[in-house]
Amino acid sequence: MLNFTVGPVMSSEAIRAIGAEQVPYFRTAEFSAVMKENEHLMLKFAKAPADSRVVFITGSGTASMEATVMNVFTPEDKVLVVNGGSFGHRFVQLCEIHDIPHTEIKLDMGRKLTAQHLAPYEGQGFTGFLVNLDETSTGVLYDIQLISDFCRRNDIFLVVDSISSFLADPFDMAALGVDVMITGSQKALACPPGISIIVLAPQSVERVCANKVKSMYFNLEDALKNGERGQTPFTPAVGTLRQINARLKEIEAAGGVESENRRMAALAADFRSKIGDMPFDIVSESLSNAVTPLHPHNVSAYDIFLRLKDEYHIWVCPNGGDMADKVFRVGHLGALTTADNDTLISALRDMQSKGLL
Ligand SMILES: *Cc1c(COP(=O)(O)O)cnc(C)c1O
Repeated sequence: MLNFTVGPVMSSEAIRAIGAEQVPYFRTAEFSAVMKENEHLMLKFAKAPADSRVVFITGSGTASMEATVMNVFTPEDKVLVVNGGSFGHRFVQLCEIHDIPHTEIKLDMGRKLTAQHLAPYEGQGFTGFLVNLDETSTGVLYDIQLISDFCRRNDIFLVVDSISSFLADPFDMAALGVDVMITGSQKALACPPGISIIVLAPQSVERVCANKVKSMYFNLEDALKNGERGQTPFTPAVGTLRQINARLKEIEAAGGVESENRRMAALAADFRSKIGDMPFDIVSESLSNAVTPLHPHNVSAYDIFLRLKDEYHIWVCPNGGDMADKVFRVGHLGALTTADNDTLISALRDMQSKGLL
């Protein structure tokens, strides 16, 4: 199997070996130490400000998006949401479900956010901002410095879904003044799905503790309290948390977050250079290192996905809805190499030689 989707992605052999082990009991000093180390390395790689905290939620990325919206915002807030695709739309839906007053900035597919988009909202009393740093559905990496400056100027609480861009693109939570950052186990962490991670700056911890959330499982104050001793309120995905631990230590040993950024940037650049003469357009104005969104000139994008899967045993990522025939995505997340890129390119060239591209 060769998997170029955007999650779950391919895991290294060491990570897969842990998945084959028995899952240990977790109310122990040993597991607490694993969790403390996970928290420490997550804070380091996110470049979180001093006294930040990390919550590990057993649930996919959306669980942490929802927990964050519920715990940091209230009906007293006024939140701006960047909606440039299906993940931005998910934040809009979460605000609707939880009665958070919100305004959406709707962007056409593949378009980046500009100062012109933000200008009308300057000085309008907004208190919160929700954005997916890499809108994975369209492969657009937003200008986080632009957003950070806007939020600082307007004293706005900034929540960043970095689920697909964490480890793939440079990010400095402290320097950007980001209040909450979210990621998940099945993207660049390259572990099985099941865990999502919320990094809270000190002011977010305060906000969470001041709000009284109406939820048992998504009570982040409770999670933070348990986390002080390296525990979770309920049984977590223990095996996945052990795999995350091994993966975080592997990244640390290989030179840390910068070196992982560089590795993924090189992998993405290698792929993009090799498709230069193929009948595709890259349909994002601002690319993340995580994924390359491609619009084929002559055939259905969904047919390419099916043919690669069925005839070449290579997975790329199809798009849904009205983009299904127009766009497919090639991910650069997980245990992939430039030799894997070559395998995909050969398959595409083979299709091209048969008039199927
Ligand atoms: C993958 C992803 C999510 C989370 O999706 P789940 O299926 O709930 O894990 C959220 N936001 C972005 C930007 C993503 O790439």
